[in-house]
Amino acid sequence: MVVYRLCDKIFLNKFKSKMSDSQQNNRQMFQGNWKCGKCGADITELPFQPDPEREGDLKCRDCHRAGISNRARGDRQMHQGNWQCSKCDGSITELPFEPRDTGNLMCRDCFRNSRQ
Ligand SMILES: [Zn+2]
Ligand SMILES: [Zn+2]
Repeated sequence: MVVYRLCDKIFLNKFKSKMSDSQQNNRQMFQGNWKCGKCGADITELPFQPDPEREGDLKCRDCHRAGISNRARGDRQMHQGNWQCSKCDGSITELPFEPRDTGNLMCRDCFRNSRQ
């Protein structure tokens, strides 16, 4: 009897998860007229009702997917900032690491030259 009950439980759980899967696939889509905050493409359909105050943050499907695959690829996180190159005094706005010693930074060009 115990075994039977266990099986019933598993079956029920599977059944339940299947149910929620299909519910997710049939998620209600909201129609509208928004713009992608990244590429400016028109967005006519969203799987959620966007917050009017956050409409500027909306992303079209392509940009959304690109963002996900970037993360999945494990791209190095870029650190934004306002630094200066110690060699050519050019401005550095992005670095692949969080700089500790900002007096010794090199822009991309100088860095490349220094390695040659
Ligand atoms: Zn976009
Ligand atoms: Zn430089």
